[in-house]
Amino acid sequence: KAKKQGRNGIQTYTHDINTKLTQRLMLRNDLQDAINQEQFSLHYQPLIRHDGTVKGFEALLRWQHPEKGVISPGRFIPIAEQTGQIIALGQWVMARAARDLLALSALLPNNCLISINLSPLQFYRANFLQTLAETLKNTGLPASRLELELTEGVLMNDTEGAITTLHALHNMGVHVAIDDFGTGFSSLSYLRHLPVNTLKIDRSFITHLPENRKDTAVVSGIIGLAHHLDLTVVAEGVETQQQHQALAALDCDVFQGYFFSRPMPFPAVVDWLKSRKSHPANLS
Ligand code: C2E
Ligand code: MG
Ligand code: MG
Ligand code: MG
Repeated sequence: KAKKQGRNGIQTYTHDINTKLTQRLMLRNDLQDAINQEQFSLHYQPLIRHDGTVKGFEALLRWQHPEKGVISPGRFIPIAEQTGQIIALGQWVMARAARDLLALSALLPNNCLISINLSPLQFYRANFLQTLAETLKNTGLPASRLELELTEGVLMNDTEGAITTLHALHNMGVHVAIDDFGTGFSSLSYLRHLPVNTLKIDRSFITHLPENRKDTAVVSGIIGLAHHLDLTVVAEGVETQQQHQALAALDCDVFQGYFFSRPMPFPAVVDWLKSRKSHPANLS
């Protein structure tokens, strides 16, 4: 693209890169302040089973920057990963989410899970399992109430190391989900060897349901594969009733998306759960 535009195109391109770099450097400095000053919060998005019951909530990180407003995790997580700041941040997420779930106990069935996104840096750290066990102990969250979300790529990078850690998690009773499934261009054979509980089908396969026959075929295939491997399947990014119906017809186990609820700050979760309790017939 830059070539076609000639000299000016390249200059603009370089200028863009510089601006991006500066922005990243600024964000990186701001991140440190943010960690110290508690500018982060967690939003929670419900995962809804086929029968309308709540399987759990996914914790999603939000950064309220004092000048720039809300910055999405898609922008700051990669920077926090590059600088290693994700370790402190991830630790904060784990403890906060565990405490928030426990604070909702009175409103929740006692098998309700909290799902947390894990960066590869956290997962492959030498003391990962120990830190996790300590956090569970300190917060009082039973291991069986925690689900960790990892992307395919993370597990493919170092399959042997990953399998050892996954077995340890399994023995602790922690659930593991493969996030954004289908986007990793990975071989499916690795799935046979990984002790995981759940596949989360990436939103990109859900968006064009039910009209797109090819996407429907792919989703149907993933659901069949998952069930044969005794895995639970979650559809991410369910936005419409039509998508929900199509997925239910394909025997998808769990749904997550704006159709059911956007990610909510903690107080809104309380209200959401209370209003469901008082209208039990209203499944969504
Ligand atoms: P993810 O784990 O795949 O999370 C799902 C993303 O899809 C979230 O974006 C969520 O808000 C969004 N989403 C949910 N339902 C719908 C829908 O119906 N339509 C559309 N268009 N989007 C929907 P979000 O919150 O911006 O997070 C983006 C990514 O950032 C996450 O993708 C996850 O990979 C990462 N992330 C978020 N929180 C954390 C965290 O605490 N730690 C780490 N390491 N990564 C995190
Ligand atoms: Mg996730
Ligand atoms: Mg996902
Ligand atoms: Mg995703």
